[in-house]
Amino acid sequence: MSEKLNVEAIFGENVFTLKTMRERLPKKVFAEVKKVMDCGGELSLAAADVVAKAMKDWAVEKGATHYTHWFQPLTGITAEKHDAFVTSPNEDGTMLMEFSGKELIKGEPDASSFPSGGLRATFEARGYTAWDITSPAFIKEAGTGPILCIPTAFCSYKGEALDKKTPLLRSMEAISQQALRIVRLFGNTGATKVIASVGPEQEYFLIDAKKALKREDILFSGRTLFGAPAPKGQELEDHYFGVIRERIGAFMKDLNKEMWKLGVPAKTQHNEVAPAQHELAPIYESANIAVDHNQLVMETMKRIAGQHGLRCLLHEKPFAGVNGSGKHDNWSITTDNGVNLLDPGTSPNENIQFLLVLACIMKAVDTHADLLRQSASNVGNDHRLGANEAPPAIISMFLGEQLEDVVKQLVETGVANTCKEGGILETGVSTLPDFQKDATDRNRTSPFAFTGNKFEFRMVGSEDSIASPNTTLNAIVAEAFCEAADILENAKDFDMAVHDLIKEYMSKYQRIIFNGNGYSEEWVAEAEKRGLPNIKSMVEAVETLTTPKAVALFEKFGIFTKPELESREEVLYETYAKTINIEALTMIDMASKQIIPAVMRYSNELANTVIAVKEAGADASVQEGLLRDVSTYLKAAKDALVNLSAVEKQASAMEDGKEQAFFYKDTVKDAMDALRMPVDALEMIVDKEAWPMPTYADLIFEV
Ligand code: ADP
Ligand code: MG
Repeated sequence: MSEKLNVEAIFGENVFTLKTMRERLPKKVFAEVKKVMDCGGELSLAAADVVAKAMKDWAVEKGATHYTHWFQPLTGITAEKHDAFVTSPNEDGTMLMEFSGKELIKGEPDASSFPSGGLRATFEARGYTAWDITSPAFIKEAGTGPILCIPTAFCSYKGEALDKKTPLLRSMEAISQQALRIVRLFGNTGATKVIASVGPEQEYFLIDAKKALKREDILFSGRTLFGAPAPKGQELEDHYFGVIRERIGAFMKDLNKEMWKLGVPAKTQHNEVAPAQHELAPIYESANIAVDHNQLVMETMKRIAGQHGLRCLLHEKPFAGVNGSGKHDNWSITTDNGVNLLDPGTSPNENIQFLLVLACIMKAVDTHADLLRQSASNVGNDHRLGANEAPPAIISMFLGEQLEDVVKQLVETGVANTCKEGGILETGVSTLPDFQKDATDRNRTSPFAFTGNKFEFRMVGSEDSIASPNTTLNAIVAEAFCEAADILENAKDFDMAVHDLIKEYMSKYQRIIFNGNGYSEEWVAEAEKRGLPNIKSMVEAVETLTTPKAVALFEKFGIFTKPELESREEVLYETYAKTINIEALTMIDMASKQIIPAVMRYSNELANTVIAVKEAGADASVQEGLLRDVSTYLKAAKDALVNLSAVEKQASAMEDGKEQAFFYKDTVKDAMDALRMPVDALEMIVDKEAWPMPTYADLIFEV
């Protein structure tokens, strides 16, 4: 019998929740904490001391010996350095565990090795971590024993952001302030802030850990760099939503349990399209907490997989020829008095506030399509975006039939008198209910789709932090709201002005709307005609961060300074170059130490067979033919290997970050492809017994 979970009892068990704080803090201190959480500002040191002690007592009761400031440097993953609650021993040799308010609020990890893109000279290399009171502290249970984790922002001595959280928090403030101006215009005086909410759907692969250990490519780059397709792929679509196998089910059960204990509202689980691919979706939360929780989801997936003899691959394209993984970033904005600004209601044509919000988002997405594209780019995602499976690299917006029709009416006539109904979907079976058809419909090929009361940004990579995409989304929409509010707050006739503005924006930015098939060739041509950017790779997207338009946007709302943006550019080029370099070196290693030697042994065996068969007086033409093929591919592989080694050396000697990144993209990647081709061809003809590593069939069908 498997363990029975009491989900309500364990939910949030490892979180220092509001409820726990209310129980453990004096009323006055609790009120102060709550105020800072809701309205910003700083906690007094006296209050921080009380909170720290309560937090420590709670954590120690749960077995914690250490605490850590948990932060999100530009590596895209989280970082932690543990400190014990231990203090210097008393004279009598005893010791008291302590944790002060100062230690809670601020940390100074010697974190000089994190990428900073030149923001920190070595003499001021220290980074500072500062408690993000809006995200609750939690206890992580790992091999080290329970650790109290305090979510923090990570900044330089001068306050420059060195992490992904600081700009996200700044962007949340920006959109809150600007969205408030919009709702005020429509008479909502009760709202005090507007919260960006996010629900990230996380895709991942699970493979057998022992087999993974036999593949250097998986170990070093998280994806396969060689591998011929298995006879079967995903064509039968029998894995998607299929019955979850026992071993995977046991993993999911343990994962859910861990997530619930950490207060992550893990909700949906299913098999995805590719064999060995799965998905977990949580219920949406405030963007900041969603970002933290998504990091915990990714980290916990890897840890729990290990406990089940599995390896979790979060890479965007672990296997060629089958679907890769992404993360649908569901985003909405809601006032603290419960109004979702993206809720069209039953008659969106009459919902002026919604139409204005929609018009602003059209403007934001069209104006900053390049930035949005950039925010979803990482090295792995280059294998997906525009490669016929994930959304294309071109940003467009899908609105669905109903809204598209409303926009069309507004653009053409200035009024939208009618509204298409969703209609009833008849099941034709008397015992089954008929469904109300969703008027927003679904278009799976759109990178940015309106889905009822939220936008679904589908470009984001599976391994990436969702901080950047949401920072960018918040920022660009805040800008559009701000510009609209500037006009409308001063309008003499508000009704007329808002009407005109909606029509103006919708007319001007309607080119961003596309409801057709985003995977088609026609769309690429059509998008070009419309003047929409088609940025094909991560390195080409980098420079969008420092265009005058981008700098003006981010500086206006205090989200990034120009130096911060420039530093991020530098880090991105560097990350790209380093990642491809690791992949190239891994291929070189595998080809020269494993694959070529194995193929040589095999061809030697074949040659001996040819001689033996001939001596025996039989027909050896089949063996000879095979030997010829093997030798041809072997020669091609060796030549490609020599070339890859040469260009890798050339690349790693380059000094300019941008030039180097482009060289990796344009030259090193080609050389990698050229090596992969003959090796994959060899895998198809060489005796399976002789092949030196598990194949695609072994990896994704035998989990
Ligand atoms: P799918 O895209 O697979 O059909 P759903 O529509 O059920 O999935 O939702 C996917 C994700 O969107 C979930 O994480 C869900 O919590 C989130 N979501 C639902 N409503 C909102 C909202 N208003 N704002 C942000 N995220 C939302
Ligand atoms: Mg989705």
